[in-house]
Formats: sequence, C-alpha cells, structure tokens
Amino acid sequence: MTVILQQKLGALIEQYEQEMIDLRRHFHANPELSFEEIETPQTIAAFHRALGHDVRENVGGKGVVATLKGHKPGKTVALRADFDALAITEETGLPFQSTIKGRMHACGHDGHTATLLILAKALNALQHELSGTIVFIHQHAEEIAPGGAIAMIEDGCLDGVDVIFGTHLWAPLELGTVYTKPGPIMAAADGFYVTVKGKGGHGSNPTDTKDSILITSQFIVNLQQIVSRRINPLHPAVVSVGHIEALNPFNVIADQVYVKGTARTFSEEERGLIERELETLLQATCAYMGASYTYDYVRGYPAVVNHPAETEHVIETVRAMPGVQVELCEPQMGGEDFAYYLEKVPGNFFFTGAKNPEWTEVYPHHHPKFDFDERAMTVAANVLGQATLNYLK
Ligand code: MN
Repeated sequence: MTVILQQKLGALIEQYEQEMIDLRRHFHANPELSFEEIETPQTIAAFHRALGHDVRENVGGKGVVATLKGHKPGKTVALRADFDALAITEETGLPFQSTIKGRMHACGHDGHTATLLILAKALNALQHELSGTIVFIHQHAEEIAPGGAIAMIEDGCLDGVDVIFGTHLWAPLELGTVYTKPGPIMAAADGFYVTVKGKGGHGSNPTDTKDSILITSQFIVNLQQIVSRRINPLHPAVVSVGHIEALNPFNVIADQVYVKGTARTFSEEERGLIERELETLLQATCAYMGASYTYDYVRGYPAVVNHPAETEHVIETVRAMPGVQVELCEPQMGGEDFAYYLEKVPGNFFFTGAKNPEWTEVYPHHHPKFDFDERAMTVAANVLGQATLNYLK
C-alpha cells in the first residue's frame, strides 16, 4: 500500500519536473535579499493557496508557512526551504540569470524553494491517501544572522510538529547522491571584531610610538595557536582573519588597526573557549606593548546537529529508493540557521549533490558564476517526500 503511494509520489514529481525548473528560473531571475523579500513570499503563498493549503504569511517577518492535512489523522512532518538571495552581481551568462545588478541566487535557495513547492503539489495530489499533516516552512533570510528561522519558530512555525527535514543543494557533490551524518553536520559560525589602539607617530621614531600594526601582527600569528594548542585535536575548529585595516602613508606608524575574523566550532564548550582565548591573547599582547583594545565576539548560528534516529530514518529511506545513493559525509565548516529547528524538534538535514557530471570546473556557493544541476531538485524532492511518507505511514 505505502509502496504504491511512494511510487505515485515519485511519478508526480517527475511529471511536474518542467514546472519545477520554470519556478526555479523565475526565482533565479528575480532574487531578493535577506529581510527584504516581498515578491518571493507572495509567489510562494499564492502557489500554496491555489492548492487549497492553509497559508500563513509574514511569519516571523517574511516567512510563509503552508499546511496540508491528510484525510486521516497522524503525525506532523515539517519540511523547510529558504528563499533569500545574496548581494552578488551574477556572471553566469545563463538565459535566466539575475535581472538585478548586485543581487543573485548564488547559494541555490531558488532551487530549494522550487523543490518544496513542487513537492507540496505532488503531496497535495495524494491528500486522500495521506495520514497526518505536512507543514511547509518557507524561510526568509537564511544568509544574514540573526536569520529568519529563529523568528519563525518564535512565531509558531514548529507548533505541533513532530519531526523536521531539510536539505541544501550542494554543487561540489555528486548528482544522484545525498550526504548526511548523525550529530554535528554544519558548524557554529561566529564573528569577532577587534580594534587595537596604540600610539601613532613618525615611521622613523618607533620608540615614541606603540605600533598598532606590530601588535596586531603578533595577535594574528598567535591566534592560530588557539586551535592547535587549546582545542582537542580530534575536534574540528577554525579561526580565520578576513580583514585588517590601517590606512596610513608608508612612513607612519599606525595609531589604530581594525581586525575582523570568523570562528567555526561544533560544540558550545569549544565555542566559548575560542571566545575567551581570543580576548586573553589580545589582552596579553596589548599589555606587553602598552596598547589598549576593543573586542566584540558576535555569535552567529549554532552548529547544525542531526538527531540520530531521524538521520537513520532518512538513510534507510534513501537506501530503499532506486537511482539515489546515500553517503555518510564529513561535517562542513559553513553555517546554517536550520540549527535552530533541530534545537526544538528532532530531525535531519542532508546535502543533495548537485554537480553536473559534465562540468570541468565547479564554482563554489556564493561565487558570481555559481550554478547547480537542476536535476538535483528532483532528487531532493523525492528524498524529502519519501522520508515524509515513510514517517507518516
Ligand atoms: Mn545556503
């Protein structure tokens, strides 16, 4: 019985494939930035309304939550897709490339949205045979902290939800394969902002100064010892400096230097350790040279931590699917606010491989030439859909 339902779902998704591609290309051509989304959520809401779903708009800001009730009672599954774009000018030259300079779907969220809409349409066609409820969470503003997830949760998008599944299309990974793991799969992504305040002066007279550039240089070199000498070597962690600024002529010793960087970790303990150790090092380095500093450590999204039983559920689901492979993956050091959903309800997040096998070069996510193989959307819709049916049966 359920096997037949699963086959029907697969056939429907295949039948709607062209519509899914058209939707993706529409969103791709019309990207909207995080927290500034207007037309995208309107299009999403109209699509669900046309299917007869219960729709809530402006959830936690710009989010859309649509609900499909099966004809028989049962559990509630939430499926989440994000829909924001990035402040990047597209350089793909694709026929459906962004129509707006400085805005681009360069992370595949256009694909996530099209995938979830078409999956909703396919599940809707099976409504009479479904037990339970399916909640479609269309989330705004994933790219910029604090993100849309936390506000949507506060606004009730997880109320009554038993389990949540989500995926990210991943262009560097193989088409036809999904990748996941129990436990941490994406990192906590934090930022730190430092000002070193020394005493400027003439480049010829260093003894009259407190050289901010020299102090900052020592800080930056030594902070790499936090990961190598303070963190358990079996636990992945990264500290990277992305910005140093001291704009002076060649013969001036800098008065102040500004530094920005990021820290990535997988546990709250190590997250706190890096936060404290950075300041201890900064304080000690400045003290020796008689300089002062300001220090801000800004927490971004926590780590995405998959629940073991729900992860096993997705893995078992994919193992039973013809034509799709599943592989255990290593965690990624990138961040995702899907983390917040998994702090509230059990669930699983997986990557859907989206590399066109004929590409000789794959542009990374957030690159002006980023693209993904649209066939990956069919894989993602199928895996999310089959995992849902298996959970509700
Ligand atoms: Mn993304």
